Amino acid sequence: MINILIVEDEPPISNLIRMSLQKAGYRCQCAFDGEQAINLIDTQSFDLILLDIMLPKIDGFELLEYIRPLEVPVIFLTAKNAVTDRVKGLRMGAEDYIIKPFEVQELLARVDVVLRRYHKTQAVLEIGGLVIDTRSMQVTKEGTPIRLTPKEYDLLLLFARNPNIALYRETIYRQVWGGELEYGSKTVDLHVQRLRRKVGWEQRLRAVNKVGYRLEV
Ligand code: CA
Repeated sequence: MINILIVEDEPPISNLIRMSLQKAGYRCQCAFDGEQAINLIDTQSFDLILLDIMLPKIDGFELLEYIRPLEVPVIFLTAKNAVTDRVKGLRMGAEDYIIKPFEVQELLARVDVVLRRYHKTQAVLEIGGLVIDTRSMQVTKEGTPIRLTPKEYDLLLLFARNPNIALYRETIYRQVWGGELEYGSKTVDLHVQRLRRKVGWEQRLRAVNKVGYRLEV
């Protein structure tokens, strides 16, 4: 699970961020001053840090210096008119900034973009006896690499990211090939059959009548 540290001294803002991120499926920790932040950073590993600048004890810029060697991405939380703070933060290596007050949707979008940039969206998936490394695009089963075509790989990833969900043929086609599936086309079925055999998912990749396929794990 993605772990995010929120460093913000104003409880209402901190709470709003925490609740929004938790709803979106992230795990969150909150620090209300710079010292607390350092304690948490030293004892846990985080995938992203949201960092206020004006903080008691140790300010956001000092914290950024402390965080930088750890290579954890940082998004600054800045006040409306603090242009120089934003520039300074970006120069110091922050990935992005959010101006307070902000819309929750904007916060979530920026968090998502930064996590993607850092390939933090679960780089290695372990599912149905397979290990899928999305950085090297390598698939292994019990340590043995499985050779897949690019389309088979995309198909596999789609199922792996949507376990136990029935996916329509049309959806599968749109996601993997792009465009609309032609009526009567067997493209999806043929590829699913071959993928099944290659990865040994004969019992897992089930046909769903009149719909498409579902990965059962
Ligand atoms: Ca503050």
